Amino acid sequence: MVVAIDGPAGAGKSSAARGVARALGFSYLDSGAMYRCVALLAIEGGVGPARAAQALEVSPGERVLLAGRDVTDRIRTAEVSQAASRVAADPDVRAALVEHQRRLLSQGDWVAEGRDIATVVAPDAEVKVFLTATDAERARRRALELRASPERVLAEQRVRDERDRTRRDSPLVPAAAATVLDTTELDLDTVIARVCDLVGRRSQAS
Ligand code: C5P
Repeated sequence: MVVAIDGPAGAGKSSAARGVARALGFSYLDSGAMYRCVALLAIEGGVGPARAAQALEVSPGERVLLAGRDVTDRIRTAEVSQAASRVAADPDVRAALVEHQRRLLSQGDWVAEGRDIATVVAPDAEVKVFLTATDAERARRRALELRASPERVLAEQRVRDERDRTRRDSPLVPAAAATVLDTTELDLDTVIARVCDLVGRRSQAS
């Protein structure tokens, strides 16, 4: 089974997806980490984003290993976040990463989070959730996580959201059949419980 969790930055996708994967014993795929790794390789130089995506050797789980190197913290910087949303607009980068993600998801049970999991990567996912929250709440959460100023995070988030929503290839939109969950007023355990509930109902129906 594939549980797809999409949504903008700071909507709570990573924490929710990790929690649901743990609760259900499913594998966890952080597709954003793959875009971040491509951006990191491009920043470090020597290789263009499309080539980097085609040759990407990454294990995008709890710890992110890029060709054996632990880049979990390095890929969360503001510089890499902005670069990730730029390389993510490149159709060649997307094609390579989508193929990689589909290969991973083709075996076993997964909770996969990103921007286009339910619309492009796994349109047949059994459960599709789109997480949202207000701009201010999303910035507040990320600022806490990054120990940065909420004003600066909000400004950077707006640029990234705009780029993700308006790009021509796979823009960030909820899939037609997705359950939209506004997490602004919900704590993490409630979000995890709601998603697990959707999975339980889907399992009973089949
Ligand atoms: O989810 P995260 O913030 O780590 O994603 C980093 C960037 O990667 C996003 O801003 C987005 O541009 C891109 N991304 C994407 N499609 C995905 C996951 C992430 O375009 N499935």
